[in-house]
Amino acid sequence: LDVVTKVGRLWAELGTARDAGRSVGLVPTMGALHAGHASLIRQAASECNVVVTTLFVNPLQFGPNEDLDSYPRSFEADQALAGVSGSTHLFAPSVAEMYPHRVLTTVRVAELTELLEGASRPGHFDGVTTVVAKLFAMAGRCRAYFGEKDFQQLAVIRRMAADLSFPVEVIGCRTVREEDGVALSSRNAYLSAAERSAAPVLYEALSVGKALVEQGATDPGAIRAAMADRVESEPLASLDYAAVVEPLSLATPDRLDGEVRLLLAARIGTTRLIDNLGALCAQPSQSSGTTPQGKEVQTCAGA
Ligand code: AMP
Repeated sequence: LDVVTKVGRLWAELGTARDAGRSVGLVPTMGALHAGHASLIRQAASECNVVVTTLFVNPLQFGPNEDLDSYPRSFEADQALAGVSGSTHLFAPSVAEMYPHRVLTTVRVAELTELLEGASRPGHFDGVTTVVAKLFAMAGRCRAYFGEKDFQQLAVIRRMAADLSFPVEVIGCRTVREEDGVALSSRNAYLSAAERSAAPVLYEALSVGKALVEQGATDPGAIRAAMADRVESEPLASLDYAAVVEPLSLATPDRLDGEVRLLLAARIGTTRLIDNLGALCAQPSQSSGTTPQGKEVQTCAGA
């Protein structure tokens, strides 16, 4: 595993690799790597010749009262896990290397960033899109791997890459969970033992919502309420939002149809966790077409 800290060297290494006909995979992370990150790296390694895992705790995407200073950092362990998972390069720039000047240029995706996480964390997605745009510019033509765990982030980055014509194919990867359903997250390290025992309530509430959708419920309000009730039945949890959205626009339709995404954000104690799950409505949508062979096709946009 080649540790790279300078933008110039990353650019040169990847340029040389591409000139030699090698494909590039990019896995952006903030470090504190766990099995969720490892699954992204493994998928990249199975599809690309060169895999760059990036490790950068991006100050731009943290709000003034968020956990930038306390965010877990574990460089040696990250280096080991990235290497065994199939990463060929670890790009770990300093803040000064990423932001050598006062930042005057930012990238902002409208609409998709204004709801859900965007409403709760003002400015967060502008920080994310700005750093990811920089990473895309540094990496050049590549496939970039992001987790569905951060579903809205994935939708926002897909849209940014398309709108700005980055030569990057954005690939969404399934959420890796603990046996009790808790989605792996670097922030799970903040949970006390009692809080960790309460954390499965997010996945349970999402599963309640998914079951309702699959049983034919079409009123988003009723599904939201059922998920909210489940979260609030856990004394250590307090709900931030529960949502049922169309997977590409992230808008809540009046009536559910086709593929939907259920999303939750809640605090467990003081730790804010997010999770989401896809569900397919019981009633096939009017617009679902048929193939020439007559087989039903169900669009599965972005899920
Ligand atoms: P982070 O380091 O939290 O910024 O995450 C880096 C990447 O890993 C993002 O694309 C996340 O969506 C993804 N990721 C985080 N947790 C998981 C998980 N449990 N399963 C799959 N991907 C994940």
